[in-house]
Amino acid sequence: MQRYFVPPDQLLDEKLVIRGDDVHHIVRVMRGKPGDELIACDGEGRCVRARIVRLDAQEVQAEVLEPLVERRELPIEVTIAQGLPKGDKLEWIIQKGTELGMAALIPFCSERTVVKWEAKKEEKKRERWQKIAKEAAEQAHRCRVPRVEPPVGFAELLDLAKRHTACAIAYEQENTTSLRTVLERVAPGDSLCVLIGPEGGFTAAEVARAEQAGILPVSLGPRILRTETASQFVLAAVSYHFEC
Ligand code: SAH
Repeated sequence: MQRYFVPPDQLLDEKLVIRGDDVHHIVRVMRGKPGDELIACDGEGRCVRARIVRLDAQEVQAEVLEPLVERRELPIEVTIAQGLPKGDKLEWIIQKGTELGMAALIPFCSERTVVKWEAKKEEKKRERWQKIAKEAAEQAHRCRVPRVEPPVGFAELLDLAKRHTACAIAYEQENTTSLRTVLERVAPGDSLCVLIGPEGGFTAAEVARAEQAGILPVSLGPRILRTETASQFVLAAVSYHFEC
């Protein structure tokens, strides 16, 4: 059954309203009509089965039939802190990371970041990233839409990272501690943040600063992964460790 995310204030106990791009999808793509059923989620974990009552080009109104109890989210809330990559790689990271259960993404700039980030000019880009996350969450039948945070500098990133139950920095020169060490320290309900460097990686000084902030350097295995592969490896490893 097709799934749509609606703002929490549009998903009430007995009825819901869908507006925006999803109306086009329901009316034109799905050829929806009164009586058809769909799944609506508020993006924060509440999902319901609903039946369309009325629809036009602007708005779809539906009645709520029953709440859905689904286990689609990773038992650990995983935030990927991703060094801003070149081109449109971040879009791919968001889409695939959403499929693999990422809870949030924090893009960051560090010493070896190549792209220039100008907050004012790039607001549109962030909207686009959030839209990619929403559409991928619908496709993956998730109950939550990952949050895509505004890009931050390295110092701010360390502050944000420390707020999680556990935090690691993926460093290819680390050869004693593996990601598994961190996964063995967290339990369902905990939050985990993993820092992934940009194409050029982290400098030794950055890794030392992260360590001082209590962030554990970890290896992701014996091969060097591209930055966009590293985040997906982390998410798949969390899923394998806790769900498979
Ligand atoms: N500086 C390196 C690799 C950068 S790879 C070089 O150019 O040779 C980009 C990022 O992916 C790294 O900063 C790291 O966070 C992560 N990464 C890739 N392979 C890894 C591995 N085997 N172990 C830990 N982290 C890895």
